[in-house]
Amino acid sequence: MVTDLLRRTILKKKEKFLFKRYEKGNIDFNAINNEVGIYIHIPFCKSICPYCPYNKVLYEKNKAQRYKEALIKEILLYKEKIGDKKITSIYIGGGTPTLLIHELEDVLQVVQENYDFHGDIGIEIYPTAVNEELLCKLKEMKINLISLGVQTFDDEKLKFLGRAYTEKEIHKAITLIKTFHFQCVDIDIMTNIPGQTYEDIKNDLEKVYAYEIDQLSIYPLIVFPMTSLSRRIKEKGLTRFSEWEEKKILQMIDKISIEHGYERTSIWTYGKNTENRYTSVTRESFVGFGAGASSHFGNYFYMNTFHTDAYIKALEEEKIPINMVNTMTGREKMIFWLFWRCYDGVIDQKRFYELFGKDMKKEFQLLFVLLKLFLLGKEKNGKVVLTDLGRFIYHYVEKQYSIHYLNYLWKRSMEEAWIEEIQI
Ligand code: SF4
Repeated sequence: MVTDLLRRTILKKKEKFLFKRYEKGNIDFNAINNEVGIYIHIPFCKSICPYCPYNKVLYEKNKAQRYKEALIKEILLYKEKIGDKKITSIYIGGGTPTLLIHELEDVLQVVQENYDFHGDIGIEIYPTAVNEELLCKLKEMKINLISLGVQTFDDEKLKFLGRAYTEKEIHKAITLIKTFHFQCVDIDIMTNIPGQTYEDIKNDLEKVYAYEIDQLSIYPLIVFPMTSLSRRIKEKGLTRFSEWEEKKILQMIDKISIEHGYERTSIWTYGKNTENRYTSVTRESFVGFGAGASSHFGNYFYMNTFHTDAYIKALEEEKIPINMVNTMTGREKMIFWLFWRCYDGVIDQKRFYELFGKDMKKEFQLLFVLLKLFLLGKEKNGKVVLTDLGRFIYHYVEKQYSIHYLNYLWKRSMEEAWIEEIQI
């Protein structure tokens, strides 16, 4: 009922979100923006972490080879659709992308030879993948932004999370990475792991900042109901911090980060080098390649099939692997944009006008009243900057969105290769 009420007041519609099976003609690819980002999804992992909600499969050498061929075919299928539009960034995520580093070299070459690409290339790295050979290869491939998935320095917690490394190996990995001088080294740290204390989180923060990295991405573990960790937490009655304790943790993170000279660059990130941020999720428009990759431009948000085999087969038959499409109303588009700007912590009203030709304040009067009334945001030079409380509320909304919306969408997509319709 609450969701229904929110949908009616914020989105001004009573129908649920509708994802429909893709058919030729129901996406206008001319709507791809003149400047667009690319996301490449590599779904392979050596082992599966029990908390992981992402689209992944166990690594198989032969399948990985066929996957590479499929990726190249998919990228080339977009040649006419993207034409001479500018590709402004490439992010490679997973899964564990570096398992296919040699294959990715060919994939990036295809992008560079066929598109007008100038920009950053970012990649996610698993700590045990780091060695001199890999880092030299990344440099050769002109990858300049890297994100190392550390999660915590606590060996016991790493084991609990199913991460196959120790603090000692993390230390080796970061020390080596630093000698390669990438433009941005981001480190992922997770909070609210069952059994974790404030002191544990503080220790992780002190340790990570001691490496003088460029950026820290720090976020609470969101337990997706579909994961095996969710079942384990219920069965064993494991406890975690409450919402209000999470608020205190956020304040502690802010304080320690500022003491170390880092400023907040988004809801989950702190940086020293703000020019080259690792920001895989905040593009205004992007085209995704790979199994489970999503794309957003114009009025469209769509997802490829999550099934790696179905993805490969579709491309071997020269078919586009898009599974489901959501065609947004004008208002949904604005809210989608606002959601990600709230993630940045700053909403630029001028940019809103440029994109939608409307005055943001008039369009979202109620939102502005609520922001002011509950001290969630402040206006500064034509921008709305979220306050600490506003950022905390965003955390909460993001969590609910993940647990109730993404969990359903991704679970269904992992169960069925091709889905006729989903209404959420
Ligand atoms: S968390 Fe990362 S490494 Fe672990 S299974 Fe998921 S994608 Fe793979």
